Amino acid sequence: MDRRKFVKAAGAAGTASLLAACGSKTAATACTESSSGPVTDGLKWKMVTTWPRDFPGLGTGANHVAELIGKLSNGRLTVEVYGGNELVPPFEVFDAVQRGTAEMGHGASYYWKGKIPAALFLAGVPFGLTGNEMNGWFYYGGGLDLYREAYAPFGVIPFPTGNSGTQMGGWFNKEINSTADLDGLKMRIPGIGAEVIKRLGATPVNIPGAELFTALQSGTIDATEWVGPMNDLAFGLFRAAKYYYYPGWHEPGSVLESIVNAEAWAALPADLQEIVATACKATSLDMYAEFEARNGIALRTLVDEHGVKLRAFPDEVLAEFKRVSFEVLEEVAAADEMAGKIWASLKAYLATVRQWTEIGSQYFLNHR
Ligand code: CA
Repeated sequence: MDRRKFVKAAGAAGTASLLAACGSKTAATACTESSSGPVTDGLKWKMVTTWPRDFPGLGTGANHVAELIGKLSNGRLTVEVYGGNELVPPFEVFDAVQRGTAEMGHGASYYWKGKIPAALFLAGVPFGLTGNEMNGWFYYGGGLDLYREAYAPFGVIPFPTGNSGTQMGGWFNKEINSTADLDGLKMRIPGIGAEVIKRLGATPVNIPGAELFTALQSGTIDATEWVGPMNDLAFGLFRAAKYYYYPGWHEPGSVLESIVNAEAWAALPADLQEIVATACKATSLDMYAEFEARNGIALRTLVDEHGVKLRAFPDEVLAEFKRVSFEVLEEVAAADEMAGKIWASLKAYLATVRQWTEIGSQYFLNHR
């Protein structure tokens, strides 16, 4: 081969391999820009979310990540946020990120339980870790690696991005004095909690958040859980049911997540990757702090201004919720290898930190 032909062939091969490495449109843009020196502007990502646009705490948390990425990167990577149904329906967020329709998504892992059984464990489990303990598990207990391993077969990379804190047990039109009061009760409750109350005689139903108030007021359901005082006050649920039960045994510290298309991620220069990861981490703190602060204020409003009757579930009812929760968790873990691995890790972590939580936080709080 003469020199001219060789150069031409090498050039063509180079172009081909660049295209192969930069398969998606976004990846190609990133590759072109990063290979020609520092990227100054132009990378645009879409973020699809499972929340209504600007929904307090959760939707605004997604906005927070997007804004942070834009600011920290000085506009080199900007993220446009789409509320549920604006680009794709809420429950298609995972698919949209997997196929690259959007580079990023925000939601909660348990929505993807149909694809990833292990996802049921990754937002927290009934009677499991608190929000603080989940953070310990993710960042210093091996949790993040398992989280990534569970999502890797789908070409999607997850990042913990927010926490609701311990939720409330829900709104009821009658008092729950024993498990017999659960018999025939129609309650909106998702995830493992739904299976638990079903085994105790209730009828769990799943209704989108926006329809909860009407369903409860019209008597279509007898009870509902949602999130906590901040979100529940905003929905006006206190106008449809009298008793507000605690604790949120079924969601002791629900973790929200960002998911990123693996190809789009690989195409980012290292500093932008660090910016995305750091923005997710910073938003976890921000959302948790917002829930803690605003739940406190909203609870006072519910009790002082709206006369809401607070009730604790009786100890024997909680003991039954707990017994059945672990029965269900063990069954889910036994049916799927990755779920089993994650459940084993969560249990080992809890066994290690339990005493510290008890003497470090719980005992102190009992005496504050
Ligand atoms: Ca909830």
